[in-house]
Amino acid sequence: MQVTHRFLIFLSALVWYGGGVGLAWKGSALLLEANSINQDGVWSILAPLLGVVIGVIKAKFIFIKNCRKNITRINQLLQPKPWQFFRLRFMFILLIAITVGTSLSSMAHGHYNFLLLVGVIDISVAVALLVSSFVYWNPTYIMLSMNKVVVENHASDVVGRAVYAACDISVGETLIQSSHIKELGRRDRYSMERDGKHILISEPGVIVNHSCSPNCKVVPNSAGAFDFIALKEISKGTEITFDYLSNEAEVTAFTDCCCGSARCRRTMSNTKC
Ligand SMILES: [Zn+2]
Repeated sequence: MQVTHRFLIFLSALVWYGGGVGLAWKGSALLLEANSINQDGVWSILAPLLGVVIGVIKAKFIFIKNCRKNITRINQLLQPKPWQFFRLRFMFILLIAITVGTSLSSMAHGHYNFLLLVGVIDISVAVALLVSSFVYWNPTYIMLSMNKVVVENHASDVVGRAVYAACDISVGETLIQSSHIKELGRRDRYSMERDGKHILISEPGVIVNHSCSPNCKVVPNSAGAFDFIALKEISKGTEITFDYLSNEAEVTAFTDCCCGSARCRRTMSNTKC
């Protein structure tokens, strides 16, 4: 059973918001209970404030990064399944966190300091979840979900993996939207040049092979990477290619071209012929 990337991102956001609202509710209840035990405590004001401050710090240094990572991971899934909205490892940690959190809350009832402590932890995680959730609304990370291509092993052992059209594609159609994975210090076999920098883009874009007579071109997109656009009608099962020299000042991955096209340059030196 296959679902869209957007659906997985929606499920992931649902967990993020559900957790944020649930923990804010639980944390507030614990702090209110603490306040009913000791109304004179300056902590009745400090505790929620502390929870918010810790939460914002957690969001900045941990949650936002994790959220972006997860969305990038979802966008890279070639055949997304309904349960892949988080990694299995993350779901396991989530389950433990919920169990521990619930046990701590029930143990804290009637104990002032304990209530404050668990209340602050809950509020901080709630704030971290809610603050970091803006990532779900950022178009840079939310890519269109498309399954117009498949990755398979190339018939030739030399080439390795290749990207093929999963359906018939019209001229001008966007086949792949890639996202920016990381910046590399220098040009390498998998890098792509953008604004003078050498970047690694997400799969399947990074797998697309070169041809001197390509059926695709690449254009920079809002995710800091590239969209792959069809230059001609592409029928289902055809390998997707683009001209590496259309984007790179030079190609170092290989020097002699054997793409097999009638207009093959034979060489990948940066002097176009
Ligand atoms: Zn060639």
